[in-house]
Amino acid sequence: MTQEELFKKLIAHSKEYGFIFPSSEIYDGLSAVYDYGQMGVELKNNIKAYWWEAMTRLRENIVGIDAAIFMHPRTWEASGHVGAFNDPLIDNKDSKKRYRADVLLEEHIAKLEDKIEKEVEKARKRFGDSFDEAQYRSTSPKVAELQSQKDSINSRMVTALNSGDLAELRQIIVDADIVDPVSGTRNWTDVRQFNLMFDTRIGSVAEGANTIYLRPETAQGIFVNFLNVQKTGRMKIPFGIAQIGKAFRNEIVARQFIFRMREFEQMEMQFFVRPGEEMHWYEYWKEFRMRWHRTLGFGDAMYRFHDHEKLAHYANAAADIEFRFPFGFKEVEGIHSRTDFDLSQHQTFSGRKIQYFDPESGESYVPFVVETSIGLDRMFLQILSAAYAEESLDGGDSRVVLRIPAPLAPVKVAVLPLVKKDGLPEIARSIIDSLKFDHNVQYDEKDSIGKRYRRQDAIGTPFCVTVDHQSAEDCTVTIRRRDSMEQMRVAISDIPSLINKEAGLRTLLEKLV
Ligand code: ATP
Repeated sequence: MTQEELFKKLIAHSKEYGFIFPSSEIYDGLSAVYDYGQMGVELKNNIKAYWWEAMTRLRENIVGIDAAIFMHPRTWEASGHVGAFNDPLIDNKDSKKRYRADVLLEEHIAKLEDKIEKEVEKARKRFGDSFDEAQYRSTSPKVAELQSQKDSINSRMVTALNSGDLAELRQIIVDADIVDPVSGTRNWTDVRQFNLMFDTRIGSVAEGANTIYLRPETAQGIFVNFLNVQKTGRMKIPFGIAQIGKAFRNEIVARQFIFRMREFEQMEMQFFVRPGEEMHWYEYWKEFRMRWHRTLGFGDAMYRFHDHEKLAHYANAAADIEFRFPFGFKEVEGIHSRTDFDLSQHQTFSGRKIQYFDPESGESYVPFVVETSIGLDRMFLQILSAAYAEESLDGGDSRVVLRIPAPLAPVKVAVLPLVKKDGLPEIARSIIDSLKFDHNVQYDEKDSIGKRYRRQDAIGTPFCVTVDHQSAEDCTVTIRRRDSMEQMRVAISDIPSLINKEAGLRTLLEKLV
């Protein structure tokens, strides 16, 4: 199965099993907007809990807030979003399709990287055991040519983006001979800037309505509350404020399912530090956030850092954590050293003093900020794409299984009476009663046991408990594990502790401290 086929199957599977539906589907959907179904909302809530507990509960110096989506419009002038939250867009005149100029170039660079890797692989096969990869990379003329093309495009792009030179961006696309994937032509328009914020009106026209924005990031809700939280929580630097909430961006190119949405959710934490100590904390948070991802057990090779060369207007260092999606390595999370830009700007625009008095040094200053910002929906897609597997079983059977880490699985346990009589449903119900205060559990008595197992595999339920006639005699049941399909006989009274141990969030959190 190619990665593209896998991705298509994943999208179909998430709809069929109630994870994700297109928004307002009966009206043919709304581009780049999605609804989470009965399974999706459970998985999403579990991801949120994993993030929230790791970032707040396990730490004495980070607290959470929940700020409003609407904010005073001056917020977005101060933050730079009104002036600079733009993407460079370009249209192809033949296909009438619109693209982000920087994304077209990045995809071209990724293709050149692929070509280099293919050359190396070919050489590896040709030379066999005597292959010296480092030597080949430094001496092959073909690799050198591809590498120099890649470096030249990359450095021109970074310079053009940093200086906002739109004509040069177009010229790089022309020079790199990039064709539109739809029409196959090079008939490009000029590059224009496009502001990504949605605006709307607050108040009635009669009162004199004002333009306000749907927030494009949750971070500003944290900055404007810096003093409130610091003072009422008696927080001492270094400390952090965390928030989970919706953000909205009028993305030019909405593709790749829930990877790029117009309404999405972010989990952000702003960590306030002494000026001059930001690089220490930047490295600290890079390491911790990577560990948080890797603790899910999908394999370290699925992740990598990408250090930014083009820095946003507020940053002095930035890196992405990228995950290997079916469509390649892509950003899931950003770690940004935002300097004192945001707090200083709000100080200037609001006319209020936003400073911290440091009892240790006896000085007042505007704190520096290190931010960790992860997209909840991208995290969801990461888990689904890493978890999805199609397997052939003994006897010619096959199954689709979602190997979601047990603590994040939407349903932790399915309790299945072998037959609908002889008191077995009652035993099953009593097992559910012993688990339901701690875990999401499901009861299922329809169809053969095999079919019921398949249904649970397809939604990623890590444990199936089967109640049979022996259960009525000796108070034991069979527990089947999703991944190994191993079955074991256990006492009914032992089930809660087994599930807590293997499917409780604590099993993940303990690895982080
Ligand atoms: P991209 O380069 O992919 O547009 P970004 O660098 O603009 O993303 P940030 O502003 O750093 O993204 O936002 C932090 C996180 O929010 C991203 O790492 C991503 O996980 C998530 N995110 C940003 N835009 C979207 C979107 N349109 N849909 C879903 N998640 C998003």
